[in-house]
Amino acid sequence: MKYYSLNDRRFTADFRKATLEGQSPDGGLYFPETIPAWPKALIEAFSKMSQAEIGFEIMRPYVGNCMSDAVLLEIMKETLNFEFPIKRLNEETWSLELFHGPTLAFKDLGARFLSRCMGHFARNLNERMVVLVATSGDTGGAVADAFHHIEGTEVVILYPSRKVSPVQEKQLTGLGGNICALEVEGDFDDCQHIVKQAFQDKDLKNGILLTSSNSINISRWLSQQIYYVLAYTQWEQSTPPIFSVPSGNFGNLCAGLVAQRSGLPVAKFIAACNANHTFTNYIHKGEFLASSSIPTISNAMDVGQPSNFIRIKALFNDSHDEIKNVIDSYWLSDEETRYWMRDMYAKYNYTLDPHSAVAYGAMKKWQQAHGNTQGIIVSTAHPIKFPEVVEQSIGEPLGITPQIMELLNREKKSIRIKSNYSSFKDAFMNVIHNK
Ligand SMILES: *Cc1c(COP(=O)(O)O)cnc(C)c1O
Repeated sequence: MKYYSLNDRRFTADFRKATLEGQSPDGGLYFPETIPAWPKALIEAFSKMSQAEIGFEIMRPYVGNCMSDAVLLEIMKETLNFEFPIKRLNEETWSLELFHGPTLAFKDLGARFLSRCMGHFARNLNERMVVLVATSGDTGGAVADAFHHIEGTEVVILYPSRKVSPVQEKQLTGLGGNICALEVEGDFDDCQHIVKQAFQDKDLKNGILLTSSNSINISRWLSQQIYYVLAYTQWEQSTPPIFSVPSGNFGNLCAGLVAQRSGLPVAKFIAACNANHTFTNYIHKGEFLASSSIPTISNAMDVGQPSNFIRIKALFNDSHDEIKNVIDSYWLSDEETRYWMRDMYAKYNYTLDPHSAVAYGAMKKWQQAHGNTQGIIVSTAHPIKFPEVVEQSIGEPLGITPQIMELLNREKKSIRIKSNYSSFKDAFMNVIHNK
């Protein structure tokens, strides 16, 4: 399989190169040259396979000859070592729970697959591999956990001091080993700014392969197809499901579209958005007007300019009509999000996190407009990751799980730096180059 840059088709890569680079040298996102068609027999056989076998079948064509069958299967076993259940909530709604991984959010799957691919490719490198990432909270935790103890890799994470939740901070700083957390006295934009500058700095890259692990990486993006297949294997209704997907950068939803293109039966995708509803406007008005992001209670979706929109356009030859045929979209205010958290808890004794509540509210809006259509909300995070908002909304305290207790008891290991490039560079040289 070859990948080409959506900026300039002349920039191509195989799976290994695209995974290690993240983004094409021309700044474009990589896109597969072909989307495999799954034979009917394979789709029927999914329900008899293990999770690792399903992951293997889905990713096999995308990985191409960059990995042997045995290596890919082993990576899938390590990646998919937790559950992805669907639970029936009421007559017409199911929840696909993607939060049973180590950091309690759906980004674990993509991050685990990516880290193991990078670890495998690191074996044939002459240089050390260093992953540099800026986080506003969730991504950094998933990346840190996924890369912890992966031989041949080191990770440097920048996070804004006092702007992440206690759980998130311990996920970033409680690991140590090959994970180094830099606590920046500034905000997320400052962190991102420093990371951008770092990738231009020749001193840093001397003797190391400096790479990123952000969500546009094809390994993270394409492996998310696995969720939709796992949901389908548990789906017992006679008609294909609708999926309501809480969306920010649209990596998750776009992966679902790829699975559908390969043949997975899906009736409709609903792009569930918060006040950052650039995409909802596009679906209803045909115009894509990117804006700056607005803070909300479902903050992992606070994206004014979804980076995977260009991949969605590529999948449908930029046809607004075709995109509208497959995806509908609704958006919710914070007030509506709180309303659906409360409603779900009161009526069905089920606790939604704010992101999953946006998916539920959007599904409700669709069902009200189209009658009783059965669908799955994609639940992307465990409510315990957002305790204040959830407790306020449902009016009850959340129980602390043993996993959270263990996390909060970890010792915080971080290096505080000022919000400027030279502070960062000093710390980086110390941690990486003087080792
Ligand atoms: C990242 C994230 C999202 C948004 O996913 P995209 O693939 O960026 O659309 C939704 N919910 C949670 C909890 C997230 O962490």
